[in-house]
Amino acid sequence: MPISLQLLTDPEIAATPELLREAAAEASGIPLDELTHVQILKRSVDARQRHVKINLRLELYVGEEYTPEPVLLPDFKDVSNAAPVIIVGSGPAGLFAALECLEAGRKPIVLERGKDVRARRRDLKAINLEHVVNPESNYCFGEGGAGTYSDGKLYTRSKKRGDVDRILRILVGFGADPNILVEAHPHIGTNKLPAIITAIRECITQHGGEVRFNQRVTDLTVKDGAIQGVVCNEKEEILADKVILATGHSARDIFEMLYRKEIAIEAKPFAVGVRVEHPQALIDSIQYKCDERGPYLPPSPYNVVKQVRGRGVYSFCMCPGGIIAPCATAPGEVVTNGWSPSKRDQVTANSGIVVELTLTDFNAFESHGPLAGMEFQKSIEQKAWKMAGGTQRVPAQRLVDFVEGKTSKDLPASSYVPGITSVELGSILPDFIYRSLQEGFKEFEKSMPGYLTNEAVVHAPETRSSSPVRIPRDRDTLEHTQVKGLYPCGEGAGYAGGIISAAIDGKKCAGKACFGVGARS
Ligand SMILES: Cc1cc2nc3c(=O)[nH]c(=O)nc-3n(C[C@H](O)[C@H](O)[C@H](O)COP(=O)(O)OP(=O)(O)OC[C@H]3O[C@@H](n4cnc5c(N)ncnc54)[C@H](O)[C@@H]3O)c2cc1C
Repeated sequence: MPISLQLLTDPEIAATPELLREAAAEASGIPLDELTHVQILKRSVDARQRHVKINLRLELYVGEEYTPEPVLLPDFKDVSNAAPVIIVGSGPAGLFAALECLEAGRKPIVLERGKDVRARRRDLKAINLEHVVNPESNYCFGEGGAGTYSDGKLYTRSKKRGDVDRILRILVGFGADPNILVEAHPHIGTNKLPAIITAIRECITQHGGEVRFNQRVTDLTVKDGAIQGVVCNEKEEILADKVILATGHSARDIFEMLYRKEIAIEAKPFAVGVRVEHPQALIDSIQYKCDERGPYLPPSPYNVVKQVRGRGVYSFCMCPGGIIAPCATAPGEVVTNGWSPSKRDQVTANSGIVVELTLTDFNAFESHGPLAGMEFQKSIEQKAWKMAGGTQRVPAQRLVDFVEGKTSKDLPASSYVPGITSVELGSILPDFIYRSLQEGFKEFEKSMPGYLTNEAVVHAPETRSSSPVRIPRDRDTLEHTQVKGLYPCGEGAGYAGGIISAAIDGKKCAGKACFGVGARS
């Protein structure tokens, strides 16, 4: 039986197997020559003290060999001839719903408006270099959804460790680095995600499921309060009595279609702000309290939350060693987000800094009913587009200038490839958001001295922090409150915020669709 040991140690020791063995032997009192293997179960960085330490949960093998446990995929069935479940959207929610169908013996038909990951790359290049946004294929739409070219941080606030571990193990089964099972803050990296998404699609099709690209769902067929199927590209009807709607937070046409058809949706509060970029070395020196990070520590993240003027102002989707990406989903708008490659080896660190909103903030758009928040979001994105010259260039301001309300005379280099244009961001952001951010940054400086610097650049806006709409569903059956057989799912429906929670929700909805109340088995 292996012996458990919790060890707080230096970064160099944690990163060097022989030194770690010696440290583990000393801490446990086990003679070094009897220690056959040291297995790291969990690893986290503890940067709270003067000297940064690594916190390790270890298993020590004494006089016995260690045999790694293989990470096996679930038992997927051949579903070629099984009854279909339509899944709209191939983001993490849609793909994990499809995998759950394979386990349950139902045939998933995944309908995706965008292109496969490889073809999608060309559309991303066109956004970055030619400022052309394809409304069907961009950073949010296409195979793998917003997850594919996301940062791939796999943390979640979900307390259901079993559910989270199940998703992580499936990702490893499809080719993710097994270290994601060990790190307290696992991260895949944008460069590694496309191969994992491709492997998931191949698994779905090899087991008799279908993944159809360029299939934008434009309507739902509903009869007597029950779903009958969907309409693709305004012409082709596909029938099924179970439809999982996993279209993400940017599928505005889906929200509009539901509203038009009087299928209940609700406005949902979200958060809006900016994306700030600092030199990574500066963030390291603040967080690690050192001049240089050295070879054994990862580029440092940060996480700040402050209460300002009665609202939360907080960091969101922080990307150490990453770049800022153009995430608009339609022409005529500008949206920022961020990602990093698996090595997090870029010289810049960026983070969304957002202000918590309430439903009353959308009052000026109340004529749009439950779409008020979406219209509020759209208005900021469109203003940013106009102010930066009607391209994918993004309005930007140095951080101290932003706090002091001064237009920046010049701007340093930014990782945002389409380019940045100096704009006083108070002319784009609603006044209450702008002022909350200005005060928020001053508060951040108190917790992270050196953060408030003109070396940092504020890019605006960051508007797609979560869905502006919730699609109501029954707590038990997970079906839409009005439409039997329709399962609102994932981030777009308001039940997830991030890759892992979207994947968990996808599995849950598919579980209900395949086995739950009213399901055809
Ligand atoms: C740049 C970036 C970085 C991110 N980084 C992280 C991160 O590090 N960690 C994290 O947890 N999260 C991150 N996210 C957020 C994460 O990607 C989302 O939370 C997650 O992808 C939501 O999953 P989903 O399946 O609910 O929706 P989505 O991933 O948005 O997928 C929805 C899918 O539905 C399709 N679709 C939309 N409308 C239709 C239609 N009418 N017909 C057919 N198909 C349709 C879309 O094309 C898309 O493929 C990031 C997002 C971005 C953009």
